[in-house]
Amino acid sequence: MTHEDWLRKAQALKIEGRLFIEGRYVDAQDGGSFDCTNPSTGAVLARIAQGEAKDVDAAVASALAAWNDRRWRGQAPRERMQVMNRWADLVEQHAEELALLETLDMGKPISDMLNIDLPEVLRTIRYFAECIDKVEGAVTHTAPGALHMILHEPLGVVGAITPWNYPMLMAVWKLAPILAAGNCVVLKPAEQAPLTCTRLAALFVEAGGPAGVFNLVNGLGPEAGRALALHPDVIKLSFTGSTRVGKLLMGYAGQSNMKRVALETGGKSPQIFMPDLYDLDAAVDRAVGGIFDNAGQVCNAGSRLLVHRDLQEAFTAKFIARTQALYQPGDPLDPATTLGPLASQPHQRKVLADIARGQAEGAQMVMGGTNVALPGTYVPPTLFVGHNRMAIAQEEIFGPVATLIPFDTEAEAIGLANDSVYGLAAAVWTRDLHQAHRMVGALEAGVVWVNCFGDGDMTQPFGGYKQSGNSRDKHVDSLLSYMQTKSAWFQVG
Ligand code: NAD
Repeated sequence: MTHEDWLRKAQALKIEGRLFIEGRYVDAQDGGSFDCTNPSTGAVLARIAQGEAKDVDAAVASALAAWNDRRWRGQAPRERMQVMNRWADLVEQHAEELALLETLDMGKPISDMLNIDLPEVLRTIRYFAECIDKVEGAVTHTAPGALHMILHEPLGVVGAITPWNYPMLMAVWKLAPILAAGNCVVLKPAEQAPLTCTRLAALFVEAGGPAGVFNLVNGLGPEAGRALALHPDVIKLSFTGSTRVGKLLMGYAGQSNMKRVALETGGKSPQIFMPDLYDLDAAVDRAVGGIFDNAGQVCNAGSRLLVHRDLQEAFTAKFIARTQALYQPGDPLDPATTLGPLASQPHQRKVLADIARGQAEGAQMVMGGTNVALPGTYVPPTLFVGHNRMAIAQEEIFGPVATLIPFDTEAEAIGLANDSVYGLAAAVWTRDLHQAHRMVGALEAGVVWVNCFGDGDMTQPFGGYKQSGNSRDKHVDSLLSYMQTKSAWFQVG
């Protein structure tokens, strides 16, 4: 489809902004709402129902009723698999609508929606659907006269709170294993980009998912999100978002019912470029993509480029040239666009302030800056040369801003990479296999890539060390994390 086709489709789009409880769309009980805006134009797209604590209560009560009468967990695994697969099929059938909604909502290029986010959403739902009847318990070796079984059981009502950078995908990384495990769920999507999640809930019911199993409450973090995190009937909370909010949620769990809290939080991922790396052009391309894809609004964005001093000059020149060739800002509805606006105006202000702070703290800005060429919430791809103790190298910017930090030795590179409160991901570029193994072992990160960046599939557990989180999305382990083990000990002789 052309740019004009997408613009035409956008005009005709019907947008749903209500809550979804007990299988149907409902308004917030107090009738409150907030604006949902298109970051590339500033236009108001829709009014979104502003759920509050009483709406969260209603959603949790609906999920708890569904849990108690076993309308989902009581179904045979095959039946639940069929519902999940039909859900994926419906998402696929609505791909254009969902892509359009998310592009309008948060500015992600439509090509990224169609080529990256949606295929990954489908893979995620289908992977966990497939896992449903593959999870097995155990019969352990015990003394004669005893039979001991270890059973995996779902947890109950799980709360999910998700961010705006990959709104649908981050939600599905939670929803798919939560539902596959047999739980009921209440989702609170990010208020900046709630439109696709709102559709996902209705599509689940259209696929045959029982009402009440998947409820959704739109609303603000400190109201609806906080109410969900404090709710005594929510047995586990699964969160993707900032480290600041992750810490609050642990507090809410302690103040309420000691619910389990699974956190996928921020990052400041280092990419280490050793002097013997195999192909500098390929490495630079991945460095550029690693920080400018999705306009840098990526938790594992490679925002710290640790470059051996011998490579620094060539690396920098190639990095600037490739950025200019590959990342020109444009209308995200144009299929040729690779760099959209940031997701909101407050976020644009924050990222521009971070760039100004980098200049103020003496980092050398070799590309980009604070001059925004287009209307809308754009930020130019920016590269600093600085050192690791600068705020721009320590704090998550969550925008198209990288800091290049030169080093001389492997030990220095490891020290710099690990000098961070975060530990989500890291990459090493080298042709020396022994060095690669050593460095993988030394890096404090949940994901380490060697001679690539951002690669993976559903078999890869994704999550962080240190203040990047305490859990893993994807992989069958994620499904097991939404279950609990029961030991059943029988006296049989
Ligand atoms: P955020 O923490 O501001 O918001 C995330 C969610 O938390 C939103 O739904 C928001 O409404 C809710 N929230 C805010 N305050 C709350 C409160 N007091 N109580 C309960 N809920 C509350 O994060 P964001 O700006 O939406 O997303 C960006 C962050 O997400 C970045 O730090 C990024 O690194 C992180 N992220 C991490 C991963 C990962 O897998 N580790 C993936 C994507 C994004």
